[in-house]
Amino acid sequence: RVNRNDFMNALDEVQPAFGVSKEELEQVVENGIIHYSNVVDEILRSGKLFVEQVRTSTRTPLVSVLLHGPPGSGKTALAATIAQASQYPFMKLLSPDSMVGFSEAQKVAAISKVFSDSYKSPLSVIVVDNLERLLDFTPIGPRFSNSVLQTLIVLFSRRPPKGRRLLIMATSSLRPVLTDLGLSEAFDSELRVPPIANLRAVDYVLEQLALFPSAQDRVKAIRMLEQAGFGSLQTNDDDLSSRLNIGIKKLLSIVEMARQEPDAAAERLTQSLMGLGM
Ligand code: ATP
Ligand code: MG
Repeated sequence: RVNRNDFMNALDEVQPAFGVSKEELEQVVENGIIHYSNVVDEILRSGKLFVEQVRTSTRTPLVSVLLHGPPGSGKTALAATIAQASQYPFMKLLSPDSMVGFSEAQKVAAISKVFSDSYKSPLSVIVVDNLERLLDFTPIGPRFSNSVLQTLIVLFSRRPPKGRRLLIMATSSLRPVLTDLGLSEAFDSELRVPPIANLRAVDYVLEQLALFPSAQDRVKAIRMLEQAGFGSLQTNDDDLSSRLNIGIKKLLSIVEMARQEPDAAAERLTQSLMGLGM
């Protein structure tokens, strides 16, 4: 028989998901968001519009958005930032990192639980991170988990119960694969998260991260990058003749590496970028 205790326990069961999810969302944006390009602000602005749409429009209780772009372009951090800023009562990050070692059935159960928990809240946002990893996608074969795929397709299109609203934000670096899997039709909208492809953005990131003690040192480093063929600081738009093509995630790690050698930071930076085979 169900008594009051069971009821209170049930409430407790839902609670931790609320607190924990906030930390998870914060964690993936640990390095903050650097506004190195208009594109960054545009993505955040579009995200905000989806958040408002779900909050206010009674006609669209379910909105799903796919953030896609090359590895390390900042998809997870941007999706988490948008989710966090929503301040919805239910915010959750569904990440393959938290499902390491799960069987397919356990994954399906975990994913389904997050969605059914969300249906208890009037307003929810779920970030479904790294779809290809969630699907255990391997290009060889190719192979993937069909049960996870079917679960996602169903949950991405299921309207939440009456009076409930849900925003789904998924991320992927393998946009074409999603089409092959029949998953891209599940999304109402897509936002492309491009890599950094001009020196002006790099310059801005270097400035924000204060890698160099002075502006002069930074300018010198940029000159070095220009000479190495990474484009020109004068070009505002993505410079097609430049070989620059790097995700913010990678750029951040290269900057931190260069920081270890303050006397040769510019050389380090240039070498690392050249070493990427761009
Ligand atoms: P992966 O393809 O490996 O999943 P990703 O595209 O999801 O990578 P993130 O994991 O979001 O990339 O990494 C981006 C990192 O860069 C984060 O640490 C984030 O804090 C930082 N960052 C700084 N500025 C930005 C920005 N404008 N947009 C996104 N991330 C940024
Ligand atoms: Mg990611």
